[in-house]
Amino acid sequence: MHKFTLTLIGFFAYLTAFSQAASENTVSSVIDQPQVEAHIRFLASDALKGRDTGSPELNIAAQYIASYFQGYGLQPIDSTDGYFQPVDLFKESTLSSATLSFKEKEFQLIEDMLVLSGDSLSEEAPVIFVNYGMPEDLKGKDLDGKIAVALMGRPGDTNPQSAFFATAEKQQQITEMGGLALVELYRSAQVPWSLLVRYLNSEQMKVGDESPQKKLPVVWLNDGQSILKDLFEENAGKSATLNVGNKVRQPINTKNVVAMLEGADPNLRDEYIVLSAHYDHIGVNPQATGVEDSIYNGARDNAIGTTALLSAAKYFSDNPPHRSVLFLAFTGEEKGLLGSQYYTQNPLVPMNKVVFNLNTDGAGYNDTTKVTVIGLERTSAQTAIVSASELVSLEAVPDPVPEQNLFDRSDNVNFAKLGVPAVTFAPGMSDFGPEIMKYYHQVTDEVASLNFNYVEQYCKAFVQAANNIANMDQAPTWQEGDKYEEAGKQLYGR
Ligand SMILES: [Zn+2]
Repeated sequence: MHKFTLTLIGFFAYLTAFSQAASENTVSSVIDQPQVEAHIRFLASDALKGRDTGSPELNIAAQYIASYFQGYGLQPIDSTDGYFQPVDLFKESTLSSATLSFKEKEFQLIEDMLVLSGDSLSEEAPVIFVNYGMPEDLKGKDLDGKIAVALMGRPGDTNPQSAFFATAEKQQQITEMGGLALVELYRSAQVPWSLLVRYLNSEQMKVGDESPQKKLPVVWLNDGQSILKDLFEENAGKSATLNVGNKVRQPINTKNVVAMLEGADPNLRDEYIVLSAHYDHIGVNPQATGVEDSIYNGARDNAIGTTALLSAAKYFSDNPPHRSVLFLAFTGEEKGLLGSQYYTQNPLVPMNKVVFNLNTDGAGYNDTTKVTVIGLERTSAQTAIVSASELVSLEAVPDPVPEQNLFDRSDNVNFAKLGVPAVTFAPGMSDFGPEIMKYYHQVTDEVASLNFNYVEQYCKAFVQAANNIANMDQAPTWQEGDKYEEAGKQLYGR
C-alpha cells in the first residue's frame, strides 16, 4: 500500500481512538454505581456510628475522604495538615441559673427568660429602653454601663429565626457602645415559649472565639402578654439586677477535609469553584436503650452528598475543567453549619477568587425524576445546572418549600453571606411531606432504603453541573435584586 494512504489510515485510526477516548471520559462513563454504592455503604455504616461531630468515628470518615482525595491525585493545600483543616469547636453546657430583678418582679431562667449568648455577669445597673435596638434607635444614646432593653427582631419582622440573626448585630453594636447586657422582649406567636426553651436551652456546639473581648449577655424575656414594654419604658433609668451564671465549655477537635485541583485553562485557573458537602451527621440516639437500632446512619444526610463530592473528585482528577476546583467536606453542619462557618472565616484560598459554591446536601427524596436545587433561580448558573441534569435525564427544579428557608439552613449560606453565588444541590423533592419526614434525621435513614439507580444518576448530575459551571465563559453572578447581590459586588469589586 502506498505510504501516503498508510499515513492517512494511521491518521484516521488516531482520530477514531481520540474520539473514543473523549467519549469514554464523559461523566456518565466515569461515575459507576458500584463505586457510588461502596462509598455510601462505608460512610453510612453502623461502624461509623452516625458520624457525630467530635466522635472518633467522624475522624475515620475524614480519613476515608482524604484517602480518596489523595488516591485521585488531588493536591493538599500547603497551609493544611495534609488534607485536613483543623476546626476548633467547643461544647457549651446549659446554664444552671440566671435571674433578672426589676421593680417588684423577679424573672427566672426557663420560666421567664433564656440566655442566648454572652459571658457570665452579676451587676446592678440602670435600664434603658431602646425600641428595636436598630442602629437608628441606638444613635446618640448613652448605653455605657447600662442594661439595654429592646423589642425582639426588627420593625415588621419578629420571625424568631430572623430575630436570632438580628440579635447578633444588636449585641455587637451595644457592646461597642459600652452596654452591659441586652434584654429582648420575646413576643412571637409563631414559636411558643415552651418550644423555644426546649430548642435553645440545650447543650450547644460553637466555633471557638479567639477574641479576648468579653461578650455581653443577651437575654430573651418571655413577653407573651405584651406587658413588659410599658414596664421597662416607663421605668427607664431605674436599676435592674442581672445574674447570669457560668457555662462549662469543653473543647471539641474536629476537621474539614480539603483538596485542590488546578484548572486546565491558564487564563481561568486562578478562579475557583468550591464543591462542598458536609460529612457529619447526628450520631446515636442516647434515648434508644434496649432498641435494636439507635444509629442515625445518615445515608441521605449526607452520605449521598459526600459521595457526590468524591465522584466529582474522581471525574475531575482525569478531566480537569477550565477553572480550579476546591473540594471541601465539612464537619459540624448538624451542629449549626459550623464547619462551613469556620472555613469561610478562615479561607484557604482568597475568597474573592472563589466564583461559585456548589454544595450538596439533602433531607431525602420523594421524586426520582428530579434534582432539587435550592437557589436554582437565584444565580446565572441556572442554565448550566439545568442542562447538566438533562444530560442524565433528571429535571433540575427550584426549592418547592421556600417557607422552610432551606437556603439559609445549608452550608452554602456561609458563602452566600460573603457574596459568593452559592446553591445547594439536593435529591429530588416535590414537597416536605411524609416520605421526606420518614427519613429526615431518623434512624431509618439507612443504606437499605436507598434507590441506587437514582443515587448514581444524582451523583452524575452533580458532577456534570460542577463541570458546566467550572467551564462557564463568564463567572456566575447573583440575579439582580437578590439579597446577596450587594455582598457579591463588594467581594469581587464589580
Ligand atoms: Zn445534611
